[in-house]
Amino acid sequence: MENTKTTKAIANQTSTEVTKVAVAYGDGIGPEIMKATLKILEASGANIQPEIIEVGEKVYVSGNSSGIEKQSWETINKNKIILKAPITTPQGKGYKSLNVTLRKSLGLFANVRPVNALHPYIHTNFPNMDVVIIRENEEDLYAGIEHQQTQDVVQCLKLITRPGCEKIVRYAFEYAKLYGRKKVTCMVKDNIMKLTDGLFHTVFKEIATEYPEIKSESQIIDIGSARLAANPENYDVIVTSNLYGDIISDIAAEIAGSVGMAGSANVGKNIAMFEAIHGSAPDIAGKAIANPSGLLNAAVMMLVHVGKVNIANKIKNAWLTTIEQGYHTADMYEEGQSIQKMSTSEFADKLIENLGKQPQQLTPSDIDEKAGKISIPEYIRQEQEQILVGTDVFINWKGSNPNEIGEALATLKSYKLKLKMITNRGVKVFPNGLPETYCTDHWRCRFVGTDAMIKGETPKYAPIDFEQILALLSNINEIGYEVIKTENLYEFDGKRAFSLGQGE
Ligand code: NAD
Repeated sequence: MENTKTTKAIANQTSTEVTKVAVAYGDGIGPEIMKATLKILEASGANIQPEIIEVGEKVYVSGNSSGIEKQSWETINKNKIILKAPITTPQGKGYKSLNVTLRKSLGLFANVRPVNALHPYIHTNFPNMDVVIIRENEEDLYAGIEHQQTQDVVQCLKLITRPGCEKIVRYAFEYAKLYGRKKVTCMVKDNIMKLTDGLFHTVFKEIATEYPEIKSESQIIDIGSARLAANPENYDVIVTSNLYGDIISDIAAEIAGSVGMAGSANVGKNIAMFEAIHGSAPDIAGKAIANPSGLLNAAVMMLVHVGKVNIANKIKNAWLTTIEQGYHTADMYEEGQSIQKMSTSEFADKLIENLGKQPQQLTPSDIDEKAGKISIPEYIRQEQEQILVGTDVFINWKGSNPNEIGEALATLKSYKLKLKMITNRGVKVFPNGLPETYCTDHWRCRFVGTDAMIKGETPKYAPIDFEQILALLSNINEIGYEVIKTENLYEFDGKRAFSLGQGE
């Protein structure tokens, strides 16, 4: 009797405050799962007022290559909260990902992806898995700056910034503190990318010292991903850069049961966007079998973000109850464990029936009122001394003998610059390259000041002027080589700020 009373009391809890949310129905299964999610939100008394925005395929096809209409930006800026179903982005060609555009244009720097097991109701080999992946959301290879530089070589720029690293790493530690988590693991590949991933790792180590109560550790991303797949129960909060985070969060969701179940929050200073981690699943679109749980869990995170924590707990507990009762969509369904295979809308209706109930076996959701409020201090820039010490000149050359181009460039006497080495795909091929090294039509020629390599504890380079680089480029052009780009070589506060060639 008491239980029924409590159930009724929770079921009747509603929010009096109207929250206007920009809602995008998306592509593929998007409209099906959004419809189910909005129905649950409405039944829960969350008092969410959706304002529909048009994004995705329909907008692209209408000739708007940004994938989002002007009015939609206005709705987003007015409401500051977006609930978005997945959208389709073509692979390898066509328009740019609107997801990435939204995240970057709106400054949504943190992508928070909690994944946990629902054993024994959803099949997983890891009954105690409970991990939150905090993925940097604006930088890295997802800057999407790509060029074909020669016939054989294309390039994608990996951009990592100190303010970006500081924001995401601090967010991860603040998240761990707020949600009572014990450990933050940083995943990088700084044994190879010493500058970019190295910066992420350095910032992680710096900021970790400010949170002595939280354990911190670092892993190289390859072994880290393998260990996450093999022993996810050993992880608590993981912080990583954009691409690695994208990959490991799908791995985590899949091994927890289904990629269709995890939600995510994209959080910025003023605006936040909530979405499932999965895509538009064109293979099952229109079949009414999609699991709405990923988007629903994102909506729960949204409710926490706007301070409607009671309603968030109510929906989450109804969801856990439905899963516990064995009412599952096809991706969750398992013979012997599930009671009924449900369509998207049947699952939503069953969940609505369960609003107000608490799960009996699974741990009930009990998110704290203070959750969802993480603010990150403004970045304070520490000025460093930046000295130009050389340039890498990239040349498009069809020849195959490194000595030929090397000797031609070595004869150039351009002010105080001299050729130090040439690499091809990062491997030193001049002087003293190996005949086995495969060479493409893309040659990186490193020029440094003739006074360079002043001997000391660490090699020191001599300062040069940019005019010397301009003169050098002109000389290279005059002897018939095609310059495709240059990268300046700098020292910051006396430290070399460029990578050495493999074998340099
Ligand atoms: P996907 O996540 O759409 O699908 C992968 C597999 O998981 C498919 O077999 C699919 O049927 C299944 N699946 C995904 N969500 C499910 C759900 N809710 N219920 C049941 N099964 C589900 O990944 P994909 O096929 O690589 O990508 C399809 C499209 O989605 C691409 O255009 C991609 O760019 C886009 N995408 C969008 C987002 C986003 O909008 N945030 C994220 C990832 C991918």
